[in-house]
Amino acid sequence: MGTEVWWSSLAAADRDLLGLLDAGERARVESLERPADRGRSLISAAMLRTAVAAHLGIAPADVVVDRTCAECGGPHGRPRIVSHGTPAPSVSVSHSGLLAVVVLVPRGPVGVDVQRLDDLDDPAAGRAWATREALFKAGEPARGDVAVSELRPPLPGYVAVVVAPAGQEGAPRVRHWPRPIPA
Ligand SMILES: [Zn+2]
Repeated sequence: MGTEVWWSSLAAADRDLLGLLDAGERARVESLERPADRGRSLISAAMLRTAVAAHLGIAPADVVVDRTCAECGGPHGRPRIVSHGTPAPSVSVSHSGLLAVVVLVPRGPVGVDVQRLDDLDDPAAGRAWATREALFKAGEPARGDVAVSELRPPLPGYVAVVVAPAGQEGAPRVRHWPRPIPA
């Protein structure tokens, strides 16, 4: 199995999704002041759990996500899946504007970044920006170990780049969650 890409939009944000999250994730969502920030945090966390659950064949609420920050030990680090017995996939999450994206690979470095071009000082540099961010999230891997590719966001006005282990078979499998995103 290769790279899986899951897209969602703020339109999917629904309080019912809070039931999928753990206490730390719920606290994080509820600590955010702006509704758009809450919505992005909610759909990102819920979609991450749903994608990993589908991959592992378990329930979303049973997915264990470690968000320990490598710098300070706080609960706001890049997510890492903890699984006992089965190998845990590597994941990366990004959101911007109306979109959220989760990328999952069976193993190895992964990083994804989506940017709404209007939010950038220089929209023409959007792809370079997203590439830097995705490489950073993947842990600055050696260039020969990874493939850097552009994703096609489901809405116009965005750019997205994914960094995944080199040599994976086939194109990424793309899903819209929980329903197709009308462009
Ligand atoms: Zn920290």
